Amino acid sequence: MKSLKENFQKAHVVIVGSGIIGKFNALELSELGFQVTIIDPNELQNSSYAALGLLMGNIYQKRRGRSWDLRKQSIELWPQWIKLLQKFNSELNIEKPLIQLTTNEEKFKKFEKFIYENNDPNLRSLERDSIFIKNINKAFQTQNIKGIISFKDGRINPFALLQTLNKYLRHKKINFSEGEIIKIRKSNNHWISTTRNNENIKSDMVILCNSLKAIDLIDSISLNITLKPVLGQAMEIDVNDAEVDLLSLPKQFNINGKNIIPKSKNKLIIGSTDEYSTKPEENTFEKITNFLDKKPNWLMKGKISKKWYGIRSRPVGEPSPVMKNLEDGLFICTGFYKNGILLAPACSKWVANEIKNYLY
Ligand SMILES: Cc1cc2nc3c(=O)[nH]c(=O)nc-3n(C[C@H](O)[C@H](O)[C@H](O)COP(=O)(O)OP(=O)(O)OC[C@H]3O[C@@H](n4cnc5c(N)ncnc54)[C@H](O)[C@@H]3O)c2cc1C
Repeated sequence: MKSLKENFQKAHVVIVGSGIIGKFNALELSELGFQVTIIDPNELQNSSYAALGLLMGNIYQKRRGRSWDLRKQSIELWPQWIKLLQKFNSELNIEKPLIQLTTNEEKFKKFEKFIYENNDPNLRSLERDSIFIKNINKAFQTQNIKGIISFKDGRINPFALLQTLNKYLRHKKINFSEGEIIKIRKSNNHWISTTRNNENIKSDMVILCNSLKAIDLIDSISLNITLKPVLGQAMEIDVNDAEVDLLSLPKQFNINGKNIIPKSKNKLIIGSTDEYSTKPEENTFEKITNFLDKKPNWLMKGKISKKWYGIRSRPVGEPSPVMKNLEDGLFICTGFYKNGILLAPACSKWVANEIKNYLY
């Protein structure tokens, strides 16, 4: 009889969690020929659907360490994924560029130093004479916004992305189950994942992509893995004011840490908050819109037309994300606090390589 190592393409992998991380892992492994089952009781209400979809890769200013390596790899992998995914949705794309702005002179000096030291044609500093800055200063009724532009970064619509990934998963005939996994255990050479309805799913490997809940399925104390919830809120704001045309602004930008996506002449999305809780704070309009010393009148008078939140998981005592081979055939890929959408391609590639190393 062939061993698992010789026959890895017949191996069955269970992926717990169908957020962006679970879906990317499923596709990556399915491309390698594995049989994949993805399990999630509530895939439409996760933090991936709450995301704004900004891909802040090349604009990231710490150019060393694991965090940069993952970003760099994701920047390279995204165009390949887009090409594949466009077979299922020809309109799916990364809207570029991405603009990061500040009103803080010290911060701007750091931006300039970063541009100078990296000498990257895809990154440029934006001074007061730039047309982008002129329009932004005019709309926000200020004079002191400056920043940088990255022509390689941008935004992907998370809803369109997740729906397209689902089409691809169906095309690859990846099994999908709506169960909630409440226990996993090793039995001989296999893993048994038990659902709340007492269904047992047998597999050769399990990958935990279920964010915060991953630690409920492992002995987190002896494995020394702690995750804490970080809630993020975003809102769509209607601006009924002839004073401003939001379409004069760039398609996506960040001012003093808040992400802004104009949707139409009088509608924009702003996000997100970092709340160390599982219940959304109230009165977030103030918190989300207070990113300048003086708020423009149109924003002050804005009305929330939609509001949503997602709960992310942040590792305690170690950097995000947590990607580990926990024991024979059990992998964890979680703790995506920020940038889970950006990092999904690099992280699923990392897991696939770990699995190949485990099998050979
Ligand atoms: C408001 C907001 C804005 C954001 N903006 C951005 C952005 O602009 N760019 C970016 O890159 N990132 C952004 N993020 C972060 C990004 O959304 C997350 O990093 C990413 O979605 C994490 O994906 P995930 O698959 O790990 O988790 P999730 O999407 O939360 O998926 C986890 C899944 O596991 C399932 N699950 C849990 N327990 C079980 C179980 N026992 N059995 C089976 N399934 C289970 C859940 O139902 C869920 O579907 C944002 C987040 C928020 C909240």
